[in-house]
Amino acid sequence: MTTVHHINCGTLQAPGGPVAVCHCLLLEDPAGLALVDAGIGLVDCRDPVGRIDQRIIDIGGFRFDEADTAARRIEALGLRPADVRDIVLTHADPDHAGGLADFPHARVHLAAEELAAVEAGDFRYQPPQFAHGSRWVPHGPGTRDWFGLPARPVPLGFTSEVLLVPLFGHTRGHCGVAVRQGDRWVLHVGDAYYLRAELSTDDHPVSALAAARAADDPARRASLEQVRRLHRDHADRIDLLGYHDSGELPGWPG
Ligand SMILES: [Zn+2]
Repeated sequence: MTTVHHINCGTLQAPGGPVAVCHCLLLEDPAGLALVDAGIGLVDCRDPVGRIDQRIIDIGGFRFDEADTAARRIEALGLRPADVRDIVLTHADPDHAGGLADFPHARVHLAAEELAAVEAGDFRYQPPQFAHGSRWVPHGPGTRDWFGLPARPVPLGFTSEVLLVPLFGHTRGHCGVAVRQGDRWVLHVGDAYYLRAELSTDDHPVSALAAARAADDPARRASLEQVRRLHRDHADRIDLLGYHDSGELPGWPG
């Protein structure tokens, strides 16, 4: 079975907001390593304003610390960054995609709709983060029914199945990523919620921020309802986590 490591690959603190982490997954398999999201990267730390618009750095409250990057986290686990052959992206926002350049030879799997939004030049994405020549692998509409959602298998050749699960709305092609763990699944919901508290209320202070950042807010709300349904009806089979809630990151702070 593929081992799932939980690693923090970046820290943000928007003015007046709580500290937000960048909760990535490192998948360790005999076939190699894969990342679920890439976090803030080494190259971002060395040249923040060359990579990310200053306004976005200020609004998001980006912090740049090399220890909080996927490359350094992988080394700290005694593994080799060069063994990362695949990266599965929930979406391509700068706090999720900055680390791509640290793994230039890795294939980058994402929803075809997300790649189309990147290539259309949507202002939310940061072109310098892709300038090294990302090896995109877009995945189109899927037919694999996964707890009632049309999932898209990501063929990594790993011992555990990995799926892109469309949860559109935060961005045009935003997806969750499901990783099989025996009879259970880990579902990384990306930014389908910012805080786990959103599973039980629409009235959290962060809800307005989530609505404001959404490319398609009605779609985002529908996706959040799907995540709530999975949590309500399938908690015995699915372990949920989001990208930014520090309370979901094992061992945080550390
Ligand atoms: Zn994010």
